[in-house]
Amino acid sequence: MTKVSTVDLVCPECDLEQEFTVYDSVNVSLNSDYKERLINGKLTVFTCDGCGYHVEIVYPMLYHDMDKKLMIWMDPDNQFDLSGLENEQFLFDILDESYQYRIVSTREEMVEKVYIFDDDLDDKPLEMLKHYIRETHLSTDDDPEQTILYYGGRGVFEDEGDVIFINKWSGPDQKSFRLPMAKYWQIKNEYTDHYPGPMPEAGRWIRVDENYFK
Ligand SMILES: [Zn+2]
Repeated sequence: MTKVSTVDLVCPECDLEQEFTVYDSVNVSLNSDYKERLINGKLTVFTCDGCGYHVEIVYPMLYHDMDKKLMIWMDPDNQFDLSGLENEQFLFDILDESYQYRIVSTREEMVEKVYIFDDDLDDKPLEMLKHYIRETHLSTDDDPEQTILYYGGRGVFEDEGDVIFINKWSGPDQKSFRLPMAKYWQIKNEYTDHYPGPMPEAGRWIRVDENYFK
């Protein structure tokens, strides 16, 4: 189900009051248009009817893909308590152990999760792969703590075979790191012991980023 509401906003540029559509939850299985608009940013942009001023407005939103059995909750203000009963009862009584539940803070993180799961990858080894890149691939101009890395897709090269891209979105030289897909599988296989078992987290909301393993 897609849940939509409207709020009255006043344009900060020209003071015109107008309605802004808020997507509390989007079901991309029932309407794939929402997915496209989430990815290109149109779903969360406010454009003033009067002066054309536009700005992204980030608010809590639920992304639901019934085919992938995936829910992503965008929680920009980190209001959601991951521990305790709230997690189990949060939002739905239909928490399903076959589903994956993820919490993110920004639209960029939400879009990254969409790409990862659409490509049938596991976000946990991917975060470890990012950590590996942070430790081994950054230049001296990059502050490892401040460097922003996102999954950038998969590809096939004639001489390299299957590769995986990790994009650097910060620093003086934004670029894309290319690693053999085998590196992802190696990490996934080697570090299985480091993952919390699938059962305790099945059907639970978790935040999977590089801090997940700390
Ligand atoms: Zn305006």
